[in-house]
Amino acid sequence: MNFLKLVQGVVGEENATSDRAICASYSRDQHWHFVPAKNPAFVVRPGDKEEVREVLVLANREKVPVVPYSTGINVRGLAIPVHEGSVLLDLSRMNRILEVNPEMKTATVEPGVTFGMLLEETRKHKLRPAFPDAPLTVSVLVNYYLRGIYQTSAADGHDHTLSYEMILPNGETLKTGSRSLSEMPYFRYGVGPDFTGVFSAHPGTCGVVTELTAKLYRLYDNRKVYFVGFDEVGAATKVIYNLMNDELAASIRLVDNQSWLKGICGTFDFPYEELPKFVLCVLVEGVDGIFEAKAKLVQEYLADSADSADSADSGGTGGRVLEFPAEFARTFEEESLGGAEKSCMVFGLQGRGNYHCIGLYGPLTLAAEYYALHEKTALEVGIPQDHVHFYIDPIYSFHGQLCYFELDVFYDGSEPGAGEKLRNYNAKQFQRLLDLGIYGWFRPYAGIIEPTVERIGHLAEVWKKFLRVLDPNEIMNRGKLL
Ligand SMILES: Cc1cc2nc3c(=O)[nH]c(=O)nc-3n(C[C@H](O)[C@H](O)[C@H](O)COP(=O)(O)OP(=O)(O)OC[C@H]3O[C@@H](n4cnc5c(N)ncnc54)[C@H](O)[C@@H]3O)c2cc1C
Repeated sequence: MNFLKLVQGVVGEENATSDRAICASYSRDQHWHFVPAKNPAFVVRPGDKEEVREVLVLANREKVPVVPYSTGINVRGLAIPVHEGSVLLDLSRMNRILEVNPEMKTATVEPGVTFGMLLEETRKHKLRPAFPDAPLTVSVLVNYYLRGIYQTSAADGHDHTLSYEMILPNGETLKTGSRSLSEMPYFRYGVGPDFTGVFSAHPGTCGVVTELTAKLYRLYDNRKVYFVGFDEVGAATKVIYNLMNDELAASIRLVDNQSWLKGICGTFDFPYEELPKFVLCVLVEGVDGIFEAKAKLVQEYLADSADSADSADSGGTGGRVLEFPAEFARTFEEESLGGAEKSCMVFGLQGRGNYHCIGLYGPLTLAAEYYALHEKTALEVGIPQDHVHFYIDPIYSFHGQLCYFELDVFYDGSEPGAGEKLRNYNAKQFQRLLDLGIYGWFRPYAGIIEPTVERIGHLAEVWKKFLRVLDPNEIMNRGKLL
């Protein structure tokens, strides 16, 4: 019997197809400049984890490559098949919120549950998930499994996953954290090594995650936003350091005045070009008493940094507290309440329509150098200055002065040569950033693995061996890690 018939026997005829038109719709994403389109041979839509297991066992037996896909919004080709004859495992039918537990402050979800769906449930308990600055139609499970970045609230920290369940190509189920021992999936470090961490951040390479338990966070009624302008990246770092060191801000973002600020303020209709080049956006929140105390301290730090004739003597950094219309602050306040979808406005910036970024983790101390390198490399490959954008999100806990940096290019993808310029930019910039020093990359983007693996020594071999143990027939979508 052919593979299609076999899987149709598991998921039903209506949920497995080799129709070319349907397969083609899974063949590319927004970053086709970097990852060439490739059709899967089959699209299969399991309805529960038993069906996932049976399909995986069949694929493993028949040596058919598997690409898991949850909501498929990803950029960077992560869910684009590498091999001919792949089966695209579309998990979007598995979209149940299995538990929202207000006492434990956790949610357990299937792959197809989106941030919008989860927020709807959690806000009933005055809780929220940590939001990426992504559309609310994105899979919570995949975003956390990919170890995303959550600029909507620095206070949430970096890692929101407690435990999960994963099915391996041979049909075995692995449960991480306290899940492996009990029905209580609420603790990350259950038994032995941190397997929750070990499987994360190289999505689709080990097996299929079918359930994930994540942390939830409080929704506060008291929220206040401040904006401060700076002419240079380096000038803003002192006040960022102070706010992070004293754990005062729920969210901090330094953005350039032409890019994400428009999303944060919620309108294009403002003379942003008249502002200082960089704007620091600070959100303070908390319960009564703590909120007022934090707000007072934040105001003091911002006043200290503000521009004045004796700024250098008084320790000021040339910052300028900005008075924006009240609705701008409201928009930023609401961001961590699920307003993140508006960030997509940015994609239409200045009519260019396309967005490219290199996202990385590094110390605040290198902020100005990352920005300078971004401008330099972009200009060298022919990307005009006004296409170059940048932002910084410092992250609690602030050990190592941990920040997420985004080196953005907004461009018109239909311009001749646009793709080539960006490919040249990436090739140079990955090497230069590695030479300058970074903590790590945001995601396993196309082109990143090769120069990075060269630098991690024996760890690369261990990583590959580890994948071979889990997936000896190499049916998962490993890309350059083969
Ligand atoms: C406009 C925009 C802005 C964004 N901003 C941010 C941001 O600020 N912060 C951030 O963190 N992210 C951001 N993202 C990325 C977004 O959060 C990711 O798209 C999301 O995390 C992954 O969901 P997906 O639907 O794209 O995953 P998919 O495309 O379905 O899958 C992504 C990868 O995970 C694998 N995978 C999928 N499901 C499973 C599974 N069940 N088990 C194992 N592997 C699986 C796939 O094979 C693939 O490799 C942004 C995306 C967009 C489009």
